[in-house]
Amino acid sequence: MRDRASVRAGRRMTPMAASDRDTVADTLQTMPLPEAGPRIVRVALDTPADDCFDYLADADVSPGDLVVVPFGKRTAVGVAIQITCQSDVPPDRLRPIVSRNDWLPPLGAPWVALARFAARYYHRCLGEVMLPALPPSLRDAETWDRLGQRAQTVQYRLRAGQADALREAAPARARTVRALADHLIATQDWVRLPDAREICTAAPARLTEWEAAGWVEAARVPQALLETGAEAAASVAPALHDEQRRAVEAIGAAEGFAAFLLHGVTGSGKTEVYLHAMADRLGADPAAQVLMLVPEINLTPQLQSRIAERFPHLPLAVLHSGLADQERSLQWLAAHRGEARIVLGTRMAVMASLPNLKLIAVDEEHDTSYKQQEGLRYSARDLAVWRANQLKVPIVLGSATPSMETWHRAEQGAYRKLVLRERAQADASLPTVRLIDLNHERQRQRTLHEGLSVPLLDAIQQRLDRGQQSLLFLNRRGYAPVLACDSCGWLSGCPRCSAYLVLHRPERRLRCHHCGLESPVPHHCPDCGNVDVAPLGRGTQRIEEALSTRFPQARIARIDADSTRKKGSAQAMFDEVHAGEVDILVGTQMVAKGHDFQRVTLVGVVHPDAAMFSHDFRAAEHLFASLMQVAGRAGRAGLGGEVMIQTRYPDAPALQALARHDYDGFAASQLRERRQAGLPPFAYQALVTSEHGELERALGFLKAAREHAEQCPMAPEVQLHDPVPMSMVRIFNRERAQMLVEAGSRPVLQRFLSEWVPTFQEVGQRVKGVRWQLEIDPLRI
Ligand code: ADP
Ligand code: ZN
Ligand code: ZN
Repeated sequence: MRDRASVRAGRRMTPMAASDRDTVADTLQTMPLPEAGPRIVRVALDTPADDCFDYLADADVSPGDLVVVPFGKRTAVGVAIQITCQSDVPPDRLRPIVSRNDWLPPLGAPWVALARFAARYYHRCLGEVMLPALPPSLRDAETWDRLGQRAQTVQYRLRAGQADALREAAPARARTVRALADHLIATQDWVRLPDAREICTAAPARLTEWEAAGWVEAARVPQALLETGAEAAASVAPALHDEQRRAVEAIGAAEGFAAFLLHGVTGSGKTEVYLHAMADRLGADPAAQVLMLVPEINLTPQLQSRIAERFPHLPLAVLHSGLADQERSLQWLAAHRGEARIVLGTRMAVMASLPNLKLIAVDEEHDTSYKQQEGLRYSARDLAVWRANQLKVPIVLGSATPSMETWHRAEQGAYRKLVLRERAQADASLPTVRLIDLNHERQRQRTLHEGLSVPLLDAIQQRLDRGQQSLLFLNRRGYAPVLACDSCGWLSGCPRCSAYLVLHRPERRLRCHHCGLESPVPHHCPDCGNVDVAPLGRGTQRIEEALSTRFPQARIARIDADSTRKKGSAQAMFDEVHAGEVDILVGTQMVAKGHDFQRVTLVGVVHPDAAMFSHDFRAAEHLFASLMQVAGRAGRAGLGGEVMIQTRYPDAPALQALARHDYDGFAASQLRERRQAGLPPFAYQALVTSEHGELERALGFLKAAREHAEQCPMAPEVQLHDPVPMSMVRIFNRERAQMLVEAGSRPVLQRFLSEWVPTFQEVGQRVKGVRWQLEIDPLRI
């Protein structure tokens, strides 16, 4: 398990006081230097030890440059933050930098300010935020050259007075070489290598020779990194309906910072609003860049082609973790150099360097994928809002089911609400939602077919008869979540985790979804030898199997993390669904979000009940959002849609609200409860988690940290909960515990953490082998 925060937790030294951090470089400034004296560069490195390290530098290093510096016995890549002439390090101990990246335009002051804010807010060191935000090929100096070659091209120009020499050197019988020389002589201007190669295939070798001979001079210039979508069939924007038009106008009229909540039911045309708002900004300023964030990688291809068709002449960069290192770096560079006008990406894209950013759109702003769950545990949505505010540009947060935080801010008037009430496409209407009471089914003595009720099976049959598609949603992959022995009660527990090994039947494996442990499926019970070991419960594989026995003629596809392991396979499967080559689609969360399936008219939710027993106060919110999302896949074209939710708890408020399509009512009741209970968004939280081979040690660390906290001057204003074991206490042989810290205001919580976090170093040292993390605004508790 790799968590950088925790491994080095024990080594954190006293960070600079907040006030120092602010003045050191909220902007990248160069202080006036005395005539003589050393030139010192402050460099941010990816280590928790300190914010910046001082080195000696030549005159060519400027703030925002990437540099290689000696660090202990190794070298490391860092970002030059500031040039100064003073250092706390004695002059004789200052070491010079090793090298600098000479082709990368320096990172701008606003980008550094963003990283600085994130570092302060999430209580990490500057370099720990900055370096992971850079693409892989820039973090590693060994790959700079290769990337630089892709990012640049060489151009050549005839040197003054060298025309005759060059003419003589180019033999008349080598026709193309002669043509190249003539061209250089005739234009007197720079000729790029790719253009030279068009004239003469041997251009690279010849030009190098001529340069060495002093007849031509060479210069490196940026190479265009992106193609436009110009060859894509240009699409025409649909005429906006009234609500869409009002939304686009409001966003267009915004000057400076403005945050909009675009609250629109699924299929109401939110994406269309983003595209129009983007077109306005891009049209108004020939250098403007816009950033659009989406929650999932597998939503990018669909949107990417929609954008390319709408803006065929504008370069589009895409940023997500599914890209190969070099490709991702090139896309990042295109954004950084201002070449990409539109940047589409997952949460990581919020940290992209965008020198001319004029608009941000965050689609499905409520989605928990915007929260990074390891390393720097940031919220991309929250950073996006900060960024828009910093740059004084508008941001649009779109959702059918806004997070309670965003909804609350909109209710307070901090965000402007824009509402789309109807589905956009002609004839499309919201699906009817039916709750299938499984208790009732049982009373009527109707048995389930492998967890599928009679009404649901009938509805699927109807769709098959009509040639329409059905989608079954079950957020649990594998065949069955546990294997059990009938006679002695043995269950397939993971030896390393407090979790069960999941049966994967097609692969004939038991797998732990938490630590990755795999084992063959036992033929008999390991405890008592009984041969009747049977799968308990259902996952997507089992539903797929049940459907194929029930509907042998139907074409069934399963989309989950297992069936889409191969690169590109998810896209291929989605293409099949869109092309109508699938009758029944079974899937997890992966099928629930964003997809515009035109032929799906039935959505079946197989088993939502597990979510109702969660202790997490956000469980109802998340359940409501995910069911609303999946329900939104039904009836998107004018075919009418139906949603069936199988449940034993049809009275649950989240399900009742869902059946009425009543987000507003649901949100109001959630907020009422949260206000009474003093929970977010009416309180601000931070979570400290710790892990150790022994639970007592993990808890001991938190208890000691808590004692330190109580001595902080801010302590009376915050609430420190008791350290407790996490509900899934053991993962990969490490026991985990947590402690919640709460305050009524964000500044109070932040000030307290600034006092408290530095004391962790000492606490961490006292408890050997403990790892800890601090998470601000945790989503799951
Ligand atoms: P959302 O992002 O809210 O789910 P989309 O923008 O994807 O909605 O729109 C849903 C469907 O409606 C798409 O197929 C889209 O092309 C279509 N659509 C959107 N706006 C309009 C409009 N004004 N007129 C006709 N069709 C529209
Ligand atoms: Zn047994
Ligand atoms: Zn495990």
